[in-house]
Amino acid sequence: MSAPEPSADCLFCKIVAGEIPAEIVHATETVVAFRDVNPQAPTHVLIVPRSHYANAAEVAHWEPTTMSELVGAAAAVADKEAFGDSYRLVFNTGPGAGQTVFHAHLHLLGGRPLTWPPG
Ligand code: AMP
Repeated sequence: MSAPEPSADCLFCKIVAGEIPAEIVHATETVVAFRDVNPQAPTHVLIVPRSHYANAAEVAHWEPTTMSELVGAAAAVADKEAFGDSYRLVFNTGPGAGQTVFHAHLHLLGGRPLTWPPG
């Protein structure tokens, strides 16, 4: 597992840096939350670390506190958007699981009934 390096070609690094527009709904010193451009639920927000890591396991390894902050930020957004106690948090990891952007991101989905198992 390699240490984080900022990536010039990374879409989410550019959103974090303000170089690409996004609808930011929550931000702290370590994480940024913005609306997904292709929402899969009435609320679909991505919460990302400001540092570049390829996936959730790398965040947990290198910045365990940030991992906790990602979940805390997701809960804060869920609270703001009044989901009650029901929402879904997802880290797609690897292309076979649907990961398309290789900067770790936590999906927050809510605002409709969410079935299980997912596809
Ligand atoms: P994943 O497939 O888990 O890697 O999730 C990547 C997510 O990023 C997808 O849900 C995309 O819709 C979303 N996405 C791609 N480009 C942007 C963008 N410019 N702003 C916001 N969300 C984006």
